[in-house]
Amino acid sequence: MGKQQWCLRVNRQGAEDIRRQLLEEGILDRTLKIRPEGEGLLFPITSRQEGAIQAEFEELHQRAELPRHELIGGIAVLAENDPAGAAIILADRPSVHTALIAESAVEGEFRTKRFRVLAGKETTATTHTEYGRTFRIDLEKAYFSARLASERQRILCMMNEGETVLDMFTGVGPFAIILSVKAEAVWACDLNPDAVSLLIENITMNRVSNVIPILADAGNLPALCGRRFDRVIMNLPLMADRFLPAACSLCVPGGTIHFYALIEDDAEENPLFNQIPVRSIERRFVRSYAPGRSHVVYDINIR
Ligand code: SAM
Repeated sequence: MGKQQWCLRVNRQGAEDIRRQLLEEGILDRTLKIRPEGEGLLFPITSRQEGAIQAEFEELHQRAELPRHELIGGIAVLAENDPAGAAIILADRPSVHTALIAESAVEGEFRTKRFRVLAGKETTATTHTEYGRTFRIDLEKAYFSARLASERQRILCMMNEGETVLDMFTGVGPFAIILSVKAEAVWACDLNPDAVSLLIENITMNRVSNVIPILADAGNLPALCGRRFDRVIMNLPLMADRFLPAACSLCVPGGTIHFYALIEDDAEENPLFNQIPVRSIERRFVRSYAPGRSHVVYDINIR
């Protein structure tokens, strides 16, 4: 049984502009579901207006106010230490089995954090899906961020079919596995044995046959690979500088290096870029990291 409410009948063409306008004016009744009628749509509104009619609407399920959190598969990582909020998230989201709070910043060579369970199952492991690919993840054992999903898609869109790719700091392999769709081969390296073990699981789970896992220090890749690549991914913010000469030696002339960095918004350009054979370089904003700090990527085309 629905609820009677005042509403406006609008044409589908231009309906989105009207919806935004009604939202901005605070007139749209957000507790009710917009519904089709003939060729048009009925927008429920909170009070009678010029031209309004009455109709019946389905009520929308009102979600509890949830504390700020990042979702990675079945794990919610809360921004604040809020055990009560953690329990609300678990009750509200049936797919969430564990709520965590980070007990450290990203630390050490493996770039992991320590976590404490606030609610749910005692684990830091989960399975995450990104654009149809499935990833086995253990947040305490190996780095993973779901927030780079659209960045990985941006690079996939830039790629030509049949490229060779080197992912120097692959973690559990999200860049490598997403980019493998277009690549002839992706060589995926990490220093962390747990990360490479999860990468191998992820290669198997996604039935990918062109990703080559390498357990090594990226500094040794020029000697280990004995070849060059069309595209090199360098996702080791704050620590990637010392590997840039190696990345250049591993990139074909005309190829591209994607160099990720965390920078102050008013920072000068990295002086290291003057010391490498750059044809062109473009800086792109990836996401805001902290007030006044951004996660950026430099797309460096090599001469
Ligand atoms: N690219 C992955 C992603 O987007 O999820 C992981 C990025 S994480 C910020 C950086 C990774 O580099 C970690 O998995 C860490 O173990 C690895 N790492 C750190 N130093 C390394 C080195 N010298 N050689 C190879 N891998 C290294």
